[in-house]
Amino acid sequence: MHSYATPYNIVRSQEPDVPVYCFRPERVTAAAKWFRESFPAQPFYAVKANPGLHVLDALWAAGINSFDVASENEIETIYNRFPGARMAFLHPVKNRRAVSRAYHQYGVRIFVTDTQAELQKILEETNYAKDLTIIVRIGVSNDGATLPLTGKFGATEDDAAAILREARRYADELGVSFHVGSQAMKPSAWATAMADVSRIIISAGVTVDIVDVGGGFPSIYADTPPPSLEAYASMVEASFENMFVLENAELWCEPGRALVAEAESLLVRVELAKPGSLYINDGSYGSLYDAVHERWQFPVRAITGNGRKLRGMAEYTIYGPTCDSTDKFPEKVWLPAGLTEGDYLEFGNIGAYGRAMASRFNGFGETDVAIVHDAPWPSLYNAVGAEVIAIGSKATK
Ligand SMILES: *Cc1c(COP(=O)(O)O)cnc(C)c1O
Repeated sequence: MHSYATPYNIVRSQEPDVPVYCFRPERVTAAAKWFRESFPAQPFYAVKANPGLHVLDALWAAGINSFDVASENEIETIYNRFPGARMAFLHPVKNRRAVSRAYHQYGVRIFVTDTQAELQKILEETNYAKDLTIIVRIGVSNDGATLPLTGKFGATEDDAAAILREARRYADELGVSFHVGSQAMKPSAWATAMADVSRIIISAGVTVDIVDVGGGFPSIYADTPPPSLEAYASMVEASFENMFVLENAELWCEPGRALVAEAESLLVRVELAKPGSLYINDGSYGSLYDAVHERWQFPVRAITGNGRKLRGMAEYTIYGPTCDSTDKFPEKVWLPAGLTEGDYLEFGNIGAYGRAMASRFNGFGETDVAIVHDAPWPSLYNAVGAEVIAIGSKATK
């Protein structure tokens, strides 16, 4: 992987034909350091947010050695890359043979369930192993989440107590978990969820060894900045103190987005300009999935192919590369006027759910990766590079 000072150097020296992920390892280090040192819970990185091996390597190097995995493929990736890593199989609906292989081949000991049937499956496929950590996922409100995740997973209050009691009979360690939704803009969502979960633990009458507060911690994009991450940390810490759990209970979390969003940007080429329109080489079937389907406001800047200076701004409709007419940004984007074929756009903070979402539809989807060392995008972490703008973080106050 080549290393450049900035994406400008990539454009000048390569004029790349395929989209290039600009990987900023320092951003991963800063995020991992914050979660390890300033957040009160042990982080299990949610691999689905960005399974790129260079990203996983940077997380590992920064001391993230526990992983939230959801499929056998993710388990195999982590197992092969980091022998000895701790994995938690946290998908509430697992393939039966994947459970067996996770336990017997890959050494996974932590499993989630939100039903009696899934608990039974886990017990059967591990031959009622005595060293299981069973996490019972409980459904909670997703108020304030930009991407709510309710409705699909999480035991109801009525079911949860019975599942907890049954799991307690077999589990070496018993945990509870919940997920408040992704890009959760309200720290109070954790306070509400943890109070609800605590009530359920009391009604179940079980002892709980682990409270896993899930993922959903935000990153910063071009629209309203989230509260500071410190606000989330203090909310979780205070809420944990009020929970009905063992005094030495452990606190875990499963951040995906917050650990890797700042890790990568995406450099795309303008293949054609029409008046008011740009056709670029990534779109709704690529890493810009969320920009189109979820109207995500990634910050963006233009880099001219030949270094010319542009004056003034213009509104553009942006089209992706595939033949599907829905492969188009839902809203116009303000960019410098006069952009043309051979110019580039760089979308910032696309490290979470960017490459993870890309498909090969229509034969597109080939990409490249380069390391860069600038830090032009908004950040929720303390500056590593001097240029970092830490909006919404205590570091700026
Ligand atoms: C997706 C997911 C996460 C990570 O969510 P983020 O919003 O990226 O932090 C964590 N845990 C589970 C169970 C998930 O499904």
